[in-house]
Amino acid sequence: MSKKTKAQELQEQLTWTFPHIGKDSPEQIEKASKYCEGYKEFLNAGKTERECVKAAVKMLKKAGYRPFDRNASYEPGDKVYYVNRGKALIATTFGKKPLTEGVRINGAHIDSPRLDLKPNPLYEKDEIAFFKTHYYGGIRKYQWGTIPLAIHGVVVKKNGETVDICIGEDETDPVFCVTDLLPHLSAKQNERPLKDGLKGEELNIVIGSLPYQEEDIKEPVKLMALSLLNERYKITEKDFFRAELELVPAVKARDVGLDASMIGAYGQDDRVCAYTALTAEMDAKKPAHTTVTILTDKEETGSDGNTGLNSDYVLHYIEDLAGQAGVPVRDVLRNSLCLSSDVNAAYDPTFPDVYEGRNSSYINKGCVLTKYTGARGKSGSNDASAETMAKVIGIMEEEGVYWQAGELGAVDAGGGGTIAKLVAHMNVDTVDLGVPILSMHSPFELSSKLDVYNTYKAFKAFYK
Ligand SMILES: [Zn+2]
Repeated sequence: MSKKTKAQELQEQLTWTFPHIGKDSPEQIEKASKYCEGYKEFLNAGKTERECVKAAVKMLKKAGYRPFDRNASYEPGDKVYYVNRGKALIATTFGKKPLTEGVRINGAHIDSPRLDLKPNPLYEKDEIAFFKTHYYGGIRKYQWGTIPLAIHGVVVKKNGETVDICIGEDETDPVFCVTDLLPHLSAKQNERPLKDGLKGEELNIVIGSLPYQEEDIKEPVKLMALSLLNERYKITEKDFFRAELELVPAVKARDVGLDASMIGAYGQDDRVCAYTALTAEMDAKKPAHTTVTILTDKEETGSDGNTGLNSDYVLHYIEDLAGQAGVPVRDVLRNSLCLSSDVNAAYDPTFPDVYEGRNSSYINKGCVLTKYTGARGKSGSNDASAETMAKVIGIMEEEGVYWQAGELGAVDAGGGGTIAKLVAHMNVDTVDLGVPILSMHSPFELSSKLDVYNTYKAFKAFYK
């Protein structure tokens, strides 16, 4: 080996680039792949926030968690959970330090972009039965045509009974879809800007084409669809007004690439952080700080509504913790640290123009620490302090976590936000951390297994 020159030595000491984990730590490839088997199951089990909460509660109960009782007293290592209206969840492992030294908050969201049924959805047109939809969250509408879709959700019947609906996930189930024009007849549609490739009122779901067999009946195809729904779920058209029904891609999570290094699936934003947060939470034994793992709803529509983080449900939960310990909640909050765990846009070599290479996240370089999100001049951003960045980087490096830093795209290319500013609003030090994703918000999002695994490792270190 030749001796290093002064410049080479200096370069090593003074400059920094984030390594490819597959090059730097190839032994992690198998571990990551193994860890992600559970992640794929979680994705398949939970395609709506309600289903995610159910899947999470099942996992938590198995790991010894009990429903939180604010009148009980808890010891370090005790594990509890709290469900908000079946659509959001908080889990806690009690820590060794007094609560006045703060809690460790890890907040991910479990709602994903999709097509919601309108309150009065069912109609027949030219002897085909359809559902009208209203899209939920940021979608590129043209991506939702001509792909198989499944219906998930609940109907609350007049007698108060809640019926769970899921059609299109079982291999023997039918699926549904939005139609699009054939290229032969799309000359005029081709002139539309991409954002109008399919328009909002064109996202109509084909649900049936056979008529009810009886002479002189008005809208027999609609009646046939209703009668089939009634047969399966005992519901009527009026019940749609008491329902939350959602169309999601009827596709299971799959390995992607010859090397199976990636996962392709619907809803990885942000169930990838939900799963990694949940498994890290369950792994916590007697952490230093009490943990507050949040799986929240409504992030994709701006966090409004009482199951989103604009609601005070997390504050009330921490107030209950503080009340139990007999300390002022403000003392708990001002000493707390939060990871707002959400995905970031991974650099896509096919579309380099919207990224600034030096400040983008890349797949296979680990979880991405995002100092600020927002748009234009950091508008609507939490913008974590240098001190908060130092704390979180320190926690990760102590445990050998692969991490990288990234912005959400180039300056003025667009922008976005997360729950970070809503937790920061409670006077908590907060920073965004999550998994870089390709094709974010599409029906088939891509993540790297090594990144998923290192995000889990980051969360584990956070709860040490
Ligand atoms: Zn998200």
